[in-house]
Amino acid sequence: MGRRIILLGPPGAGKGTQAKWLVEKTGLLHLSTGDLLRDEVARRTELGMNARAFMDRGDLVPDDVIIEMIRGKIGDAEGFILDGFPRTVAQAEALARITHVDHVLYIALDREQVIARLTSRRVCRDCGWITNILSNDAATDGACRDCGGELYQRDDDRREVIENRFDVYIGATAPLIAYYGKLGILSEVDGNQSPEAVLVQILAVVEAA
Ligand code: ADP
Ligand code: ZN
Repeated sequence: MGRRIILLGPPGAGKGTQAKWLVEKTGLLHLSTGDLLRDEVARRTELGMNARAFMDRGDLVPDDVIIEMIRGKIGDAEGFILDGFPRTVAQAEALARITHVDHVLYIALDREQVIARLTSRRVCRDCGWITNILSNDAATDGACRDCGGELYQRDDDRREVIENRFDVYIGATAPLIAYYGKLGILSEVDGNQSPEAVLVQILAVVEAA
């Protein structure tokens, strides 16, 4: 099984949900740069204070900050699931200097689908469980189904910010589809199906080789 895995796709494609399930199935290390950054913001570290303005606008945090943050976490891990990194070609080139990658799973979703999903997304403040107010799962009166924690809307899940995040994705991140395609390690999965169906397709790829 290829153990160094990247999840690529627009905001809202379901990378976080898939990463969580993949970790449960495989025991691999989960590295989400979005979660790492939100943690830095919550702890009011210098990095967090600098990153916050970029995140609130839906812009990318500068490459050098992200690369330094992730470098130490990857270390010499034998396997990992990267979620939200790399997000630019410069980040992908830096990653290639740090380690080898086995699989890039590109979860595809179009602009209208992204906007519909993210405007209704809610996240548990305590355990990170992700849900959607339009789904049945969420009918819990604002409490997390897993731990009872408070469900909240991320600051960057407001419509104007979501639109900017999607445009930034198209400009800066979508070129990675061709970048990894050329390396022959990219697999595309349709993100517009149930999360369970997406997981089945991802597992078929990562367990094959
Ligand atoms: P989503 O994938 O839903 O947009 P994330 O939680 O991955 O959200 O990221 C939230 C924000 O954190 C991004 O909009 C960006 O500002 C910042 N961020 C996360 N990962 C990176 C990265 N690899 N490079 C630059 N900025 C990043
Ligand atoms: Zn919870």
